[in-house]
Amino acid sequence: MTRSVEIDSGSGFCGGVIRAIGKAEEFLGLSGVLYSLGAIVHNEAELARLGGKGLQTVGKDDLDSLPAGSTLLIRAHGEPPETYALARELGLKVIDCTCPVVLRLQRSIREAWERVRDEGGQVILFGKPGHAEVLGLLGQTGGNALVVENMEMLEEYIGRGLISPGVPLEVFSQTTKSPDGYRAICARLTEFSSSEVTVHETICSQVASRHRQLAEFAAAHDVIIFVSGSSSSNGKVLFELCRSVNPRSYHIGDPSGINPSWVPEGCSVGVCGATSTPKWLLEEVAERLRSI
Ligand code: SF4
Repeated sequence: MTRSVEIDSGSGFCGGVIRAIGKAEEFLGLSGVLYSLGAIVHNEAELARLGGKGLQTVGKDDLDSLPAGSTLLIRAHGEPPETYALARELGLKVIDCTCPVVLRLQRSIREAWERVRDEGGQVILFGKPGHAEVLGLLGQTGGNALVVENMEMLEEYIGRGLISPGVPLEVFSQTTKSPDGYRAICARLTEFSSSEVTVHETICSQVASRHRQLAEFAAAHDVIIFVSGSSSSNGKVLFELCRSVNPRSYHIGDPSGINPSWVPEGCSVGVCGATSTPKWLLEEVAERLRSI
């Protein structure tokens, strides 16, 4: 069949994920096993590839049963201070792959909390409750930041009196949240508060520019095939963005998820993905689309 297939040039791993995978592969080249605290990337296909090289994903509850002297990789999302303390206590070696952008955000949120806590101020974090990066950021404030996922949650917190209008507010965003969503949250807080509201621009620049580029890419094709792992939060946000611009957008995890009826003959198909989607997987999907 004839259809044009284009891979979005901006899709594929972000710098933080490339760096973490590079460090993991370098270590695995020297030693056969490395433990990653949580999935190094939210993509099942890439995890299977790295698993073949000896990377094992473990949870916090598994740490005390790892062999003595094992090496633990901290992924790009980062971790709260308690995790480093626990690894030290258990005698684990650590390869810290926290993305430099996340490290800066951790420091900034810690300093903000130190600034406002004595005057009764609050730190508000626009992010997904329970997400690994968010837990790492919360840990910088001893768990005292208020996590807000969307406008409904913000209104609920305001209604319940959990945010005070008369105290300084320091506002941050998880690095992968939507810039439009963050602008709306900050505008509502500024309107609500009678005190100082300090907004920190903490969405990763790679993610922020991706939103605009991806919206243009989605609008320029008849059909969009969006590829990402089922647990990628960035994938969910970016897929929704594609769908809002192009209703013929479909989400898949790998080439087997393609339904040929989505891509009739003669249509132009755009293939794109999240910051956790490997380029090789996008290429496999494009290849499959060309061959059906
Ligand atoms: S999205 Fe940005 S901040 Fe997050 S890991 Fe990737 S490069 Fe780092």
